[in-house]
Amino acid sequence: MFIDYEVAVIGAGIVGASIAAKLSSTGISVALIDKGAAGALGASGYSGGLVRLYDTDPLLMELAAYSIGLMEEGIFATTYSSSLRRTGMIYRTAPDQLENIWSAIRQHARVRYPMHLIGTDELDGVHYPHGQGEARINLFEPRACVGNVRQAVALLSNVVRQYGLLLEHCEVKSIDCRSSHDVRIELGSATLRCRAVVVAAGAWSQRLLPEMDFGLETRSIPLARVMTESTWPMPVIDAVTQTYGIPLTRAIVQTGCGLRDSGAWPESLEQPDERHARDAGQRVAQLSTSVSDGEVCVLDVLPGFDSYSPDCRPLVGFCDPHSPVYMATGMSGLGFKFAPGIAQIAFDQLRCHLAGQEPNRDWAALSPERSRGQAASPGVQP
Ligand SMILES: Cc1cc2nc3c(=O)[nH]c(=O)nc-3n(C[C@H](O)[C@H](O)[C@H](O)COP(=O)(O)OP(=O)(O)OC[C@H]3O[C@@H](n4cnc5c(N)ncnc54)[C@H](O)[C@@H]3O)c2cc1C
Repeated sequence: MFIDYEVAVIGAGIVGASIAAKLSSTGISVALIDKGAAGALGASGYSGGLVRLYDTDPLLMELAAYSIGLMEEGIFATTYSSSLRRTGMIYRTAPDQLENIWSAIRQHARVRYPMHLIGTDELDGVHYPHGQGEARINLFEPRACVGNVRQAVALLSNVVRQYGLLLEHCEVKSIDCRSSHDVRIELGSATLRCRAVVVAAGAWSQRLLPEMDFGLETRSIPLARVMTESTWPMPVIDAVTQTYGIPLTRAIVQTGCGLRDSGAWPESLEQPDERHARDAGQRVAQLSTSVSDGEVCVLDVLPGFDSYSPDCRPLVGFCDPHSPVYMATGMSGLGFKFAPGIAQIAFDQLRCHLAGQEPNRDWAALSPERSRGQAASPGVQP
């Protein structure tokens, strides 16, 4: 028996759910399929959820700016945006980065999204490296946010449930491409037949495309919740020590660990242990003047992970010009903030494909064709 939808989206993490909701809300029929509950099994279930603009990679910064510009528009205004809490954030870096920061401010700061430098003495005396006296410049993004990623996925998935089909606890084993506009996916005793398929399966994406090598790998991103005596007014990233803290409540901050692992799949990564907990505690102490190592209590360390591409830029686009397979993976630790932008890019390109037109070449730099046969580089995003 056949079930017909124009587009199937495999993976209901934040990226797949955003793409499926965007397509559904514009009248395209969509089936969104996940092997677990939406947003539960993949990177989206662990995400820190920080939405900020600055990046040392100009292309990623442009993508972040594009995405932030879309967050309060269309379907994202009533879904994704409602999961955001406006906190502001401080990005601290070495003085030799001043020109890059100025260039980012000149290019991207807007009335709707201001960015400016502030002095270390304006930081409430809380956020600067403990006792090291190292010089820093501080970029302040007052409209940066922290999102509840699971809530965003749930709201976006509800849109799909309303207009299309949401299948949970349903693992896709393979994709059968018959032609550039005919893809079949076996679902038990039924066959889903569609004109394009989006692979948004996060760190498992490569498994669905065994004949293509995009150099994707899975990297661990351990996430710790740490209790301290001090108050954390807003998220802070220290780029020099690759350390960050995102306040959750008055005395609890979320932070990352420096000890990372990589492998083919999430299942092959080592689980966090007491070394990760110790490292997280030291990192929080390093971030704040008013906390010492002995004053932190690590509550837990979660085994977060994500899909990384060789150049740490997302893979977004058709596998090749004649393929019905559209990839949206390799988010490299930044997929929450990119999700609305990627959904819009995917919508524009899929709409052309469905209309039998050549997809536009906007954002061609993200095309998966660039990384066929490459190995991943060791870059880590804080
Ligand atoms: C600790 C941590 C902190 C982070 N902090 C930030 C941050 O501050 N800001 C930011 O922007 N990003 C952050 N990220 C990154 C961001 O969370 C990820 O990039 C994003 O969640 C990736 O979403 P995704 O939809 O691509 O993948 P996933 O969330 O992994 O979703 C993939 C989905 O595909 C499903 N799936 C896989 N295979 C199949 C199959 N065969 N059949 C059916 N379903 C399948 C899985 O069940 C899963 O639900 C962080 C990530 C982590 C782990």
